[in-house]
This record gives sequence, C-alpha cells and structure tokens, in this order.
Amino acid sequence: MEYYSSHINKLIEQLSHLPGIGAKSAQRLAFHIINMPADQVEQLTSSITAARKNVRYCKCCCTLTDQEICPICASEKRDHSTIMVVENPRDLAAYEKTGKFEGVYHVLHGAISPMLGIGPDDIRLKELMTRLSGEDVKELIIATNSSLEGETTAMYISRLVKPIGIRVSRIASGVPVGGDLEYIDEVTLLRALEGRVDL
Ligand code: ZN
Repeated sequence: MEYYSSHINKLIEQLSHLPGIGAKSAQRLAFHIINMPADQVEQLTSSITAARKNVRYCKCCCTLTDQEICPICASEKRDHSTIMVVENPRDLAAYEKTGKFEGVYHVLHGAISPMLGIGPDDIRLKELMTRLSGEDVKELIIATNSSLEGETTAMYISRLVKPIGIRVSRIASGVPVGGDLEYIDEVTLLRALEGRVDL
C-alpha cells in the first residue's frame, strides 16, 4: 500500500540498502532529508557523487585515495621495503597519526572469516602477493586486528609469504582482543609495533 508519495518511497528504499539502516531508520532519514533546506540537500548529494566519482583504490597499497598512487606510496621518504598489512584505511590512519611508522602499507579491506563466508579471494590479498613478487620487500608486518578473523588472516598470510623468504612479523598482542586498531591510543599502537614478533 502506498502511504507516501512515490518519491519518498523511493528514497526510503534507497536508504534502507545502506549498512546498518533498517526500515525504520530509512524512514526517519527520508523525512529528515525532505525537511532539510534545499541547498543542504544539494551539498549532501553532490558530496556523495563527488566522493564516489573521485575516490579510488591506490594501485599499489589499495587504500582509498584521490590519485592513482596514494601520497604514502608515492613518497620517496618512506621505506618501501617494510610493508604493514592492515584491515582497512581507518587502521592505516591510526598508525599514520602516530607519525612513527616509516614504512608503507597494504590495505586488505577486510579479514578472512569462514563464519561470514569471507575467503582469501574476497580481500585484497592477490594484490599483496603481486606486489611482493615485484618489489624488494624485506619485512611484512601484519597488523590485522586481534579478533578471530584478524588472527586467521595473519596466519594465512604468514603461510603464504614466509616460503618466499620475506620476514613476516605480527604486532604484539598488547592490543586488547577483539579491539579495533582505530580505537587504540597511539602509545599502545607504538608498543604493539615495537614489540612485534616473527611469525
Ligand atoms: Zn598506496
């Protein structure tokens, strides 16, 4: 049954496709948008369109960037022989904020989770392996979260990479179990990095 105008129904439906937005939240958001000043709605839609159009995955480390190669990968000041593997761009940002890591990153965009049906092919692992075969890499620091998925991913990568002869280490487990890297303070992050152990 059509209670609202078809435009509102369409908006509600689109919003309800977003993660974490159920039918009720979608309705609430739709009515909120309808009541917003027209120029604010314009700003919202244009920033969505611009972000979608201009943000892409770095060809090298797979993080989100406006350029083909992100500023970290493009920098000559970084140590390109040390790669830190993180689950998402937010984790990268957490380590960047400490300003103490001089290497480069690789962003997986997820972690292996048999429970959720996320396998090695569903994260940016192939890109990492291609990278390792083409670049002179001395150490791979695995900084996935200390959740079950993060640990599974770390073990998987270690088994894949160690036979190539590259040193593989894991950040120290001072990071609370199940803790997302982005919520951990800088001191804990640095301690985890300094106390990393070889896998
Ligand atoms: Zn990059």
